[in-house]
Amino acid sequence: MSSKVQAVRGMHDILPEETPLWRRVESILADTLRAHGYREIRLPVVEKTELFKRSIGEVTDIVEKEMYTFEDKSGESLTLRPEGTAGCVRALIEQGLLRNPVHRLWYLGPMFRHERPQKGRFRQFHQLGVEAFGLPGPDVDAELILLTRRWFRQLGIENQLELQLNCLGSQIERQAYRQELVAYFGSFERVLDEDSQRRLKTNPLRILDSKNPAMQELIAGAPKLLDYLGESSLAHFQGLTSILQDCGVRFTINPRLVRGLDYYCLTVFEWVAQGGGSQGTVCAGGRYDTLVEQLGGRPTPAVGFALGMERLISLLTASPLARSGELPPHLYLIRAGAEGERNGWLLAEWLRDRLPNLHLIVHLGGGSLKNQFKKADKSGAWYAVIVGEDEAARGVVGLKALRADEPQQTLSREQLVAFLQKKFSF
Ligand code: ATP
Ligand code: MG
Repeated sequence: MSSKVQAVRGMHDILPEETPLWRRVESILADTLRAHGYREIRLPVVEKTELFKRSIGEVTDIVEKEMYTFEDKSGESLTLRPEGTAGCVRALIEQGLLRNPVHRLWYLGPMFRHERPQKGRFRQFHQLGVEAFGLPGPDVDAELILLTRRWFRQLGIENQLELQLNCLGSQIERQAYRQELVAYFGSFERVLDEDSQRRLKTNPLRILDSKNPAMQELIAGAPKLLDYLGESSLAHFQGLTSILQDCGVRFTINPRLVRGLDYYCLTVFEWVAQGGGSQGTVCAGGRYDTLVEQLGGRPTPAVGFALGMERLISLLTASPLARSGELPPHLYLIRAGAEGERNGWLLAEWLRDRLPNLHLIVHLGGGSLKNQFKKADKSGAWYAVIVGEDEAARGVVGLKALRADEPQQTLSREQLVAFLQKKFSF
């Protein structure tokens, strides 16, 4: 036997037992987005490497060590997207869509990061991203957070999640803060881990985002960015928190929340699952008012977030949404003899034309009646419908209940449709 080829480490199959839950969750998320006026955009999985370097920032975990970058056959450097915002902004600029001032958009798809695989951390994972362009005020920040709260309510997990907020201010405000931070961490340089020592010189704010438990105490004692913000940033933050309070959204202010990407300003937020450790963040985002201009578009304020689908789904394994697996088929079609086989195909097509929601499995691969009945039983179907030589000649079908004690019936095609309509309320 040849050796087996395995999937790439950290990249997972989502099996047929799991896909019904994924589909249900995706449809709840998409319906809520539509109800808030957000429209879907579908974007390429591969972009030019430069796009991510220019947007996410050179001195970030993602760009420094997590990107799947390769040269294609023409020697161009391309990257499997590690996140969706950069591609979304690129598309808006390239397609001239920013002539309309306001866009509310969402997308769903795989993202790729070369991280150490562990629970809740994969190399291919899925994000649902939501982005709003052209709205500068805290009202849209609040709208996004209210939308996420509605999702978590609908999914029954609102109580398992904590909303954390922070305000990153403007670039100028962060510069002043940066100096304080360098002075603070600089005085502890010997106890900083290797990453933080490097970041002290390149991007000290990023130290606050460290996942290393050994660094947490030092980080907790660091100066707080909120203390360095000016009036207008504070007014934005105040605007957001007062809408949230009015709408009864509970949150905590986390002054160390800086997020792992360079493009954020003002509002940043995360929904964190209790007890999830450093993989606890299910949903995260913030405002990025300078990114569009930085990527060559007209200045456009923007705010967005991404929901990690695998982390969300893992919170739902005990939910009723997960318990109701795929519904069983209504019918399993069994055929015997040459005429029965032919007639069975016609019957199946005829039924599908009339009952578009009928869940009908056609037995394939032949075999004895006994074997076909066994397969029918195993499929979980409610009824077996039988077309043999005799039924084919008489223009009728046999119908046998597989889950109840009902006598076998012989029905015309029309009677079968009427029976199914009544039984399953089609
Ligand atoms: P983390 O702090 O967990 O590394 P991040 O700050 O890198 O996350 P973002 O880039 O903001 O995450 O991505 C938004 C969301 O996408 C995260 O909150 C998480 O739910 C999910 N996510 C990010 N990286 C991964 C991954 N490697 N595997 C699974 N989900 C991920
Ligand atoms: Mg990360």
